[in-house]
This record gives sequence, C-alpha cells and structure tokens, in this order.
Amino acid sequence: MSSSSASTIQSVLVENRVFAPSAEAQQGARVSGMAAYQALCDEAAADFDGFWARQARAHLNWSKPFSRTLDESNAPFYKWFDDGELNASANCLDRHIGTPVENKTAIVFEADDGTVTQVTYKDLLSRVSRFANALKAQGIGKGDRVIVYMPMGVEGIVAMQACARIGATHSVVFGGFSAKALNERIIDAGAVAVITANYQLRGGKELPLKAIVDDGIAMGGCTTLKTVLVYERTPSAWNRVEGRDKTFDEALQGQGDDCPPVAVDAEHPLFILYTSGSTGKPKGVQHATGGYLLWAKMTMEWTFDIRPEDVFWCTADIGWITGHTYVAYGPLAAGATQVVFEGIPTYPNAGRFWQMIEKHKVSIFYTAPTAIRSLIKAAESDEKVHPKNWDLSSLRILGSVGEPINPEAWMWYHRNIGHERCPIVDTFWQTETGGHVITPLPGATPLVPGSCTLPLPGIMAAIVDETGKDLPNGAGGMLVIKRPWPSMIRTIWNDPERFKKSYFPEEMGGTIYLAGDGAVRSEDRGYFRITGRIDDVLNVSGHRLGTMEIESALVSKTDLVAEAAVVGRPDDVTGEAVCAFVVLKRGRPTGEEAKQIANELRNWVAKEIGPIAKPKDIRFGDNLPKTRSGKIMRRLLRSIAKGEAITQDTSTLENPAILEQLAQTN
Ligand code: ATP
Ligand code: MG
Repeated sequence: MSSSSASTIQSVLVENRVFAPSAEAQQGARVSGMAAYQALCDEAAADFDGFWARQARAHLNWSKPFSRTLDESNAPFYKWFDDGELNASANCLDRHIGTPVENKTAIVFEADDGTVTQVTYKDLLSRVSRFANALKAQGIGKGDRVIVYMPMGVEGIVAMQACARIGATHSVVFGGFSAKALNERIIDAGAVAVITANYQLRGGKELPLKAIVDDGIAMGGCTTLKTVLVYERTPSAWNRVEGRDKTFDEALQGQGDDCPPVAVDAEHPLFILYTSGSTGKPKGVQHATGGYLLWAKMTMEWTFDIRPEDVFWCTADIGWITGHTYVAYGPLAAGATQVVFEGIPTYPNAGRFWQMIEKHKVSIFYTAPTAIRSLIKAAESDEKVHPKNWDLSSLRILGSVGEPINPEAWMWYHRNIGHERCPIVDTFWQTETGGHVITPLPGATPLVPGSCTLPLPGIMAAIVDETGKDLPNGAGGMLVIKRPWPSMIRTIWNDPERFKKSYFPEEMGGTIYLAGDGAVRSEDRGYFRITGRIDDVLNVSGHRLGTMEIESALVSKTDLVAEAAVVGRPDDVTGEAVCAFVVLKRGRPTGEEAKQIANELRNWVAKEIGPIAKPKDIRFGDNLPKTRSGKIMRRLLRSIAKGEAITQDTSTLENPAILEQLAQTN
C-alpha cells in the first residue's frame, strides 16, 4: 500500500442498522451476551498459553498429553502442543462410540437427483476404518501424501478421514479443477495415490473425473504416484490403467472394519490444501493435526453454537477449506448431524437450497455470498423459486463465508431466509487461518450488515499500517493477527521462504501474521469490515478506496445490478482509475443502452460514495470471471482493465469465455 491511510474516504455506506441478538438466540447459547464474550477475551489476554492449553485439554482426546503449549522459538514457524499425540479421525469418530451419539445420524446425504441416504456415526466409523485398511493394503501409511479428487459425498469424507486415521496427509483438489491443476498439485505434494471417482453428477450432468486424472498424470512428472483408486459413482465405463488403477470395491475386498487410529504428533501435517488462486500461483497451505482440529471443534461451538438437536448444513465443497473445517472435520468432532449435498443450487431449479432446508429441517445454514447473490437474482425474476414457497422455520442460525457480503445481500438473506429471526454470522477467515477468526457469535454479538464484527477470543486481530503500527478506528489499513493461534498455517508445502515472505513481513518484525486483506474498524463499536484484498485497495488522486465499497454501492442499485467487481488501472491524471465490471439483472446491454446505464451507474456511485469513486470505465458481462469456488478473479480483471493480454494461470477459472466479453469496451 502506497498512500497514507488518513485520507481514507468516509463512505456514505456507513452502516447504521444494528441487529442485537434476540432473547431466543441468547437463551442457552454457549457464549451468551457480550459480557461472556468479553470474559473469554480477557482470559486469553491475561493468560494466553493457559487459555489455549485448557481449551486443548477440554476439547480433544489426546493419546499422549502435551506438556508444551506454544513454542515460538523458531517463529514464524510456530508449534502448538507439539509433544502431545492424537489422531484426528479418532477425535471425530471413535470419541462418540459408547456415547448417545454413536447411533445418531452423522451425515444426511442428498444426491444430485434428490436421493437421500443417512449414515450414523457408528456406520461412518466402520466405513472409514475399512477404507483406511484398504489404503494400508496399498502400502500407504504415515507421512505419505494422498490426493483426493472426488465428488461431494460420503465417500470423499470417508477418504479424508481414512487418510487422517493412518497418518497420511491428504490434499483435496476440487472436482472442477483441470488436468493441469491436478498435475501441478500431484507433483508439488509428491503424492503416492489419487483417490477419485469415475464420474461426478452435477446439475443432472455426468462429468468425468477419472479421465481428467488420467490426463493430469499423462502430462508427466508424477514420479511418486503409484496408485489410483476409483469410486464408481455411476455405471458408466471408464478407462482402466492396469497395475495402477483399482476400484473401491476391489480395494475394499476382504478388508475388515477395525483399524486402530495411528497416533501422530500434534504438529503432524493433517492436510495440504492449495488456495483457490484468486491472487496468483496456488500455495500448498499446510495444517497441523492438533491445533487445526481444536479450532474446528471450538468454532462449531462458538460460531454456530452447535447443539445436539441441530441439523447443520454447510454448502461448501470438500475441495475448499470451508468444506474441510465445516464438513469433513468440525461437524464430526462436534458430534453433529449434517447435510451433505452432491449437486448445485440451481438444479432442478434455483429453489433447491430452500427446498432442502425444508426437507431436512436444517437449523444452521452456512453458504457463500456468491450463492446468495445468484439466488436473489433467480428469486427476483421467477416467483416459483422465491424462498417464500418453502417452510424455513427450522432455521436458527445463518452463516456467510468466502467474500465480504454486501449489505444489500445481507438484508435479503436476513429477511427472506432468516425471517428477521436468525442471526447471520458473517465469518471472516482464510485457508491459512484454518477456521473462523473474525465473526459474530450468534448469542452475543449485535450484528451490522456487511461487517464480520469482532475477533474470536484468543485471536489478536488488529489493523495496522505498513510498519505494523496500530491504526485508530475509522482508519483503513492492513488486517493482521499479532499472536499465533493453534489452527494457523504452519508453512507452505515445499516453500518455507514463500511462507515467511507472504505472511510475515520483515517490516513488521517477521512474527505478525499478515492476512493480505484490507480492513477498517468502525468508529463506534470497533467492528471490523473487510474492504478487499490489499492489492484491491485503489489510490485515486491520493484517496484510498476499497474496491468492496464501490462494489457494494453498485450492487445497492438493486433494480439494475446483480453483481459487480471493481479493479484499478493506472491513470495518468489520477494515479489509478476505477474500472467496474457489472452484471445486470436484465441481461447484458449493448450500444446506446449500455452507455446510458453506465452513466446512470456512475452518477449513482457519485451519490453513494462521492464523485472521486465514480468508475471511469464500466463494462458489462453476462457473468464475471470466477474461480470454481465462486470468487471473482480480480487479477484477471486487472489485466483486462489495462488492456493487457491474459498470460496468467487460468487453470482455476470456471468460465473462460467471459473474459472475451468483458474485454470489449462500450
Ligand atoms: P488465494 O489466496 O489463492 O488468492 P483465496 O484467498 O480466495 O485464494 P480462501 O482462503 O478460500 O482463498 O479465501 C480467503 C479470503 O476470502 C480472505 O482472505 C478474504 O479476502 C475472503 N473472505 C473470506 N470470508 C470473508 C468474509 N466473511 N468477509 C470478507 N472477506 C472474506
Ligand atoms: Mg488468500
């Protein structure tokens, strides 16, 4: 960031709406009321190591108790509970055996075509154990890396848990990624096996997985790879490579369903997950077993206030960190019943999510702003898929994750899904943080639309300038976390230097975690609001503008705009100029109409934020370039805005055709 933070524009988007938790939400909540929240924060501040040690003893089953809590001797390579031993799978499954949870439904699986199957905790333990035995029979063991390239479903979760059970480190690759992305990850991770399916079913279509694995391996360099295990999701034929490929049935043949969990050191790598790549070459984020699992369980309890009778549904795919922490690990560690969904939100129509909430009596629903925005667009153009057609009264808590949620989308979610009754937890976190770090607590925090509110107890988040100096409320700056926390990234696989350089800048002393996001705290409550990636803060005539603010202003023109993304491009006069890419609710305009709407939007932004924020260029598209996780790829938009050819890695881009459309000027 180049300019001073003092000149941050005070946006008129300042949010005055506040929604205090209802008596109902506070009642019986684990953290009930702000005094309880504050007490936990105070405890962590007064006795940091003691706080975390007590949590780790209370929440996890240790096969060998730890005596050291935090080792900072080789910062920023922090270690937590490092002389303790445990097994993640045992903490998700075995721990419930002999308790009332053992016969409880762990997973309600709804397939793409609507077929529902249920799995109890006891069943899940036998399936995981049997699969773990099958992996061992392939010679896979502690320390090996295994790629999981699977559809959303029980088998994918079983594969991850089975790896954890034998101490193998999994690396899940999202089932929408290309052969090239897969090839790079197999090589970087040095994987010995790929667990995949012949096909996946999404939106009524059969899409190949195994064929992409074959292509990825054929690109060469996968010298460590020995085995490919194939789940036959559909009866369709697939190409078998003799000596390397085995079906699940063949691998499971003769395997018993008892497999003692392998105790590993708390710091043993549970998984590597490559980030989505919205800002550059994917990084293999490495997480440790003990600290990660601790936070997965604690945040289930704090952020979602999970209770025995809840039906939890996180819509994220296991290919993302959200699907790791809040599908594959957290809900199981918490002994919850969860819904797992194979399909997409718009099939057979855009009412699918609402219908499933009704059908499964979901009480906690956790999804992404991109999904919410697209379902708003659908509901507003077609009454039949409006959520009002379904009974959503089972809902108790709503969650949002992945991007800042625009206040307008927040309000729609609050009214139309939460019926002004359910707290919305806007959870800020990252692949690197392992679990939520800044989020409201449903029974405590007064909510402000578009704000992720306050850090969780023990998370020492702050906003600082380039030198690491604290900034006052109201001043925009860089989001940092000043002390380590148990579920933090341990390193970038194979690249400890990049780890230090990316997250622990020397100018700040080399030990403070830099999130890479810009943020500002509100003057009144000190609430955090994420203003966009640091790279996405624009400097227009010396004024610092968060891209997120301009995007929110555009999207708040609700009669016209469905989605918007804003980037900067160099400008001779103003330093940087604002460039907006806009998707309209009515479809893509051209010619005179495009010019006219662009002008209308410019004036709107001028009125909402100030003339300085007026987009110089506005371009219309049928969609925006997104990663497969639904995030806008602003680095590509930056190139388009500058008129450059795209030479960057687009292997994680979902809809490449859109780039050409957006390259056209009006
Ligand atoms: P890459 O690091 O490869 O560019 P990514 O950052 O998109 O990919 P994730 O780790 O999945 O990959 O996403 C974390 C980022 O998502 C955060 O840094 C932040 O920019 C954004 N984010 C997540 N949750 C929220 C939230 N509740 N509010 C605002 N931003 C959020
Ligand atoms: Mg990131």
